[in-house]
Amino acid sequence: MTASTTDEPSVDVDPAFRRTFQERIVRWYRRAGRDLPWRSTTSPYHVAVSEILLQQTQAARVAPVFEEFVVRWPRVDDLHAASLEDVKSLTDPLGYHIRGFWLKELARIVVERHGGKVPDSLDALRELPGLGPYAAAAVYVFGLRRRAALLDTNIARVLTRAVGLPEDGSVYRDTRRLRDLAEQLVPARRHYDYHQGLMDLGATVCLARSPRCQRCPLRRGCRAVVGGAPAAVWREQGVVMAAERTVGYRVGSRKAVKAPQADPARRTSG
Ligand code: SF4
Repeated sequence: MTASTTDEPSVDVDPAFRRTFQERIVRWYRRAGRDLPWRSTTSPYHVAVSEILLQQTQAARVAPVFEEFVVRWPRVDDLHAASLEDVKSLTDPLGYHIRGFWLKELARIVVERHGGKVPDSLDALRELPGLGPYAAAAVYVFGLRRRAALLDTNIARVLTRAVGLPEDGSVYRDTRRLRDLAEQLVPARRHYDYHQGLMDLGATVCLARSPRCQRCPLRRGCRAVVGGAPAAVWREQGVVMAAERTVGYRVGSRKAVKAPQADPARRTSG
């Protein structure tokens, strides 16, 4: 029987590892982060718009639509007053047509229930149309500059590799272990740059099938890198990671908790 995700051992992150990890990402982001239009706004409303536009759509396609959107409807009241038809005429070419409706509904609720201000609690953000758990947390972190742990597929992949967790299906699920890990690694300050950097790393460097480790600021100390090559790639070539037999990690001290070996004398059939 497969252990439930709540039975997974947590990851105990060493403070020195955490500090180095955070500093390397923040420094790299300030030097090499992507120049995206929603990163130059301080409006939580604009960030919420960007998060809805970015769902299931690449940043490069979203950028020109976002820029036109915030020129046409710079404030949430402007969007509330706009017709659904006008909004959809701008957003529908991106595909995923429900988002035009979500944007209009979001504007209505922000204006009618929150006095025109994007709410500043995670619970209230999660109730807005089009904002699932990740997008709500992204508005909280990027729009309101509050501290919370973000976890999407790209971030999960970077964290999993950097600390050397086995790359199994959990990378694509929001498991308790990954959430714990993400929360432990968020810095007390500079969490905006830290998260933007993590997202850029996952989108441009730590790619799923072909990570560009030579350009990665985490390569010294990354637990997925063995002899200069990421172990995930090795495994695709039929090489089994030793770490796959471990069930818990003390990051930073290189201690791993080994999975108990089966005792052949006690093995029972069925
Ligand atoms: S060194 Fe390679 S595997 Fe490790 S985080 Fe960077 S890109 Fe990903």
